[in-house]
Amino acid sequence: MPGFAATERLSTSVAPDSLLLTQELLNTQGPLIYRIDLLDETGTAQEWLDGVLDDWQAVNPGQKAARIQLRDVDLAGLATVRDQLYGLVTGESDVPVLESPVTVTAGPDGVQASPGGTGIGWISSAVALELFRAQEQDLLRRLKRCQNPDCATVFYDRSKNNSRSWHDVATCGNRANVRAYRARQKDS
Ligand SMILES: [Zn+2]
Repeated sequence: MPGFAATERLSTSVAPDSLLLTQELLNTQGPLIYRIDLLDETGTAQEWLDGVLDDWQAVNPGQKAARIQLRDVDLAGLATVRDQLYGLVTGESDVPVLESPVTVTAGPDGVQASPGGTGIGWISSAVALELFRAQEQDLLRRLKRCQNPDCATVFYDRSKNNSRSWHDVATCGNRANVRAYRARQKDS
């Protein structure tokens, strides 16, 4: 895995490969208190993107990952796609829409959909396809945002009854427990 893999740096549970790009893009933000947004600078954003596109290529052998050279102006575009994605995955954003071109081709195995467009458009298209497939396989409801309001980490809930709340029990879960404990002390 590349050094800037967004999800891995947050020590939380990684989604199946079919949601790789979606979870990665969402997790470029991470815990809001630390402010280490990988999309803040072109250098870190490019390093992250190169790594994640290599990984995407590895798990989608029949398709071709786009090669994308980010310019400063693209960072805002990428952040907008991320906001739209938050809206679709968590229902918390005002912009739950992702308009993306999809390429449909016919082959020996029937009709196949693959990401269309170029640059940021290709990324938006690739995550849109991931969302569709994840919903079909009933995986999408397991992709969740950490319930700590100061944390934007998106984790994949592997618990039996899909009941996990925190991206990491030791940090965000622990802080919530301490808060609840203090509140109880005050009340008694
Ligand atoms: Zn968290």
